[in-house]
Amino acid sequence: MTTIDTNLQQLQQRIARACTAARRPADSVQLLAVSKTWPADAVVQAVAAGQLQFGENYIQEGVEKIQALASHPKRATLVWHCIGPVQGNKTRLVAEHFDWVQTVDRLKIAQRLSEQRPAHLPPLQVCLQVNVDGGANKSGLAPADVRPLAQAVAQLPGLRLRGLMCIPEPTSDFEAQKSIFTSARALFDSLTGCSPQWDTLSMGMSDDLEAAIAAGSTLVRVGRAVFGERPPKP
Ligand SMILES: *Cc1c(COP(=O)(O)O)cnc(C)c1O
Repeated sequence: MTTIDTNLQQLQQRIARACTAARRPADSVQLLAVSKTWPADAVVQAVAAGQLQFGENYIQEGVEKIQALASHPKRATLVWHCIGPVQGNKTRLVAEHFDWVQTVDRLKIAQRLSEQRPAHLPPLQVCLQVNVDGGANKSGLAPADVRPLAQAVAQLPGLRLRGLMCIPEPTSDFEAQKSIFTSARALFDSLTGCSPQWDTLSMGMSDDLEAAIAAGSTLVRVGRAVFGERPPKP
C-alpha cells in the first residue's frame, strides 16, 4: 500500500466518524482530493486507491494533469474541479477541460464560461464562492450578493448551478469553525430552489472538515491529509 492509499483510508474513516457524530449518512459527504502542486503520478496513485474526484487551484497546472490522465483507463470516471481563482483570460481553459468550477463570483466570468463551454460536453457544474466570514483579501461574494448572482447564473445554458463553496479564515477552535460553517449552511438552505439541482455545499479542508461536516457540508476539499505537506511554491 502506498502512503496515499493509507491516507485515503484514514480520511474516509475521519469523514465517516464525523458523519456519525452529526447523525448524517456516511454517503452524504463526498471527498474532493486537492492535488495542486502534486505531480500527475500522485493522482494516478490516488485513482488506484479508488479516489475519482480531484481539485486543482492553478488552471494551467490542472489542465496539464487532466491531459496527463487522458489515456488512463479510468479517465471517463474522473471528475476535475477548478477550485482556484478564474481570471477572464483563463475561462476558456476551464470551460474546455474541467467538469466543475467552484469559484464563480462574478456574472461576467460565468457568462464567458457558459459561452465557451464546448457543445459536445455536458454543462459545466458550478458553485458560487461566498466570503462567508468577511475575511480580508479573499475572493468570493458577500452573502447578500449571492441570490442575484445565483438567479442569473441559473439561466446560463452552458452552466449548471449546483451550490456554494467557501474558504473561511483558518482557526483552530472547533466551535468557531462550526459557527461560520453553520452560517454558510443557512445561506445555502435559504437558496433552495434557485436552481433545479441545488445540492452541493463545498466546505471543509484537512484541518476543519469535522466542523464543516457537523454544519452540513456535502463536499470536503482535502489536500494535505491525502497527499502530504505541499512543497513550498517556488
Ligand atoms: C489547498 C486548498 C484546499 C485543501 O487544503 P488542505 O489544507 O491541503 O486540505 C481546499 N480548498 C482550496 C480552495 C484550496 O486552495
